Amino acid sequence: MEKKIYNFYPGPATLPRPVLEKVRNEFLNFNNTGISVSEISHRSKEYESLHLATESRLKKLLGLGDDYKCLFLQGGASTQFALLPMNFLPPGRTADYLITGSWSQKAVKEASRLGDVHIAASTEKENFKRLPTAGEINFSSNPAYVHLTSNNTIMGTQWHDFPDCGDIPLTADMSSDILSRPFNARKFSLIYAGAQKNLGPAGVTIVLINRAFMEKAHEDLPVILRYKTHAQKDSLYNTPPVFSIYVMSLVLEWIEDTGGLLAMEQKNREKAGLIYAEIDESGKFYRGHAEKESRSLMNITFRLPNPELETKFVREATENGLIGLKGHRSVGGLRASLYNAMTLEGSRALASFMREFRARNS
Ligand code: PMP
Repeated sequence: MEKKIYNFYPGPATLPRPVLEKVRNEFLNFNNTGISVSEISHRSKEYESLHLATESRLKKLLGLGDDYKCLFLQGGASTQFALLPMNFLPPGRTADYLITGSWSQKAVKEASRLGDVHIAASTEKENFKRLPTAGEINFSSNPAYVHLTSNNTIMGTQWHDFPDCGDIPLTADMSSDILSRPFNARKFSLIYAGAQKNLGPAGVTIVLINRAFMEKAHEDLPVILRYKTHAQKDSLYNTPPVFSIYVMSLVLEWIEDTGGLLAMEQKNREKAGLIYAEIDESGKFYRGHAEKESRSLMNITFRLPNPELETKFVREATENGLIGLKGHRSVGGLRASLYNAMTLEGSRALASFMREFRARNS
């Protein structure tokens, strides 16, 4: 019998089982073509209809209409750290960054190589254990855009109410919580996310972009680096990552069939609630990194009383089929990633392992 594995890796991450089964069943014969999706021309009508339907599906789930374009790009979210300022930070303007963890630090580092940036807020002094309050955010006088990271994968914190930026175009890296809950996507001029946590396999990065905002982009860039190029060609300017887009389309279908973003949020709250309850009820055995109001529903970061116990926890958890729990090297400790595809059963299994481990070791 197949050993039951619960996969808590931060990304690439667990995918919905029904999606994996469908991929397996369809792999040798995509859409009755007699060949696999990885072998078909991206200009074929069979692929093109999948491609366009995937864009519509994603926009529909996010409540976005024709005034937004959804792009399927490559290079990961890290490439977006550079493309955003290249396209939207002109000389003489400033871009404002909210620094809430390692990924926003990487984003601002890249932007500052390309133009003037302003740190509108940072919680680095507190080791990013919380998000800035509204009163701590100071925008510059006329920024070209504001950038935030909606979920801090490494720190285990998440914005629950996005800041009010008035008329300033708001942009976000949503790599680790896109489609995990309903939110007002129309508040954002641009959203990007690597697929490998909540959307599908690595290889495709989605960029949702407001068309009016796109008109403000620089023209003096290499063609391939302009958002407009990809928008004008429906992300078929060059060969897209067809397999990743195909799997993403199945993940989107699975989200729709499961009840959409509201159902995702309810399930994510329940799953995360089980783990946070173990932390809170453990006395000081498990210590969460994030402050309660800033806690992420996607990545739960915590420490044990000493590094030896942390190593033991990871080893024994792995032996019990609970894998991928080691925290990021920059923070240490443990991290449980509970993206959309993690089941309630998986979260229960982790919670009960935590309880049992504490009883044996405290
Ligand atoms: N932003 C966030 C919030 C992330 O979690 C990650 C990856 N873990 C990245 C950016 C970088 O993504 P990629 O590896 O796709 O460039």
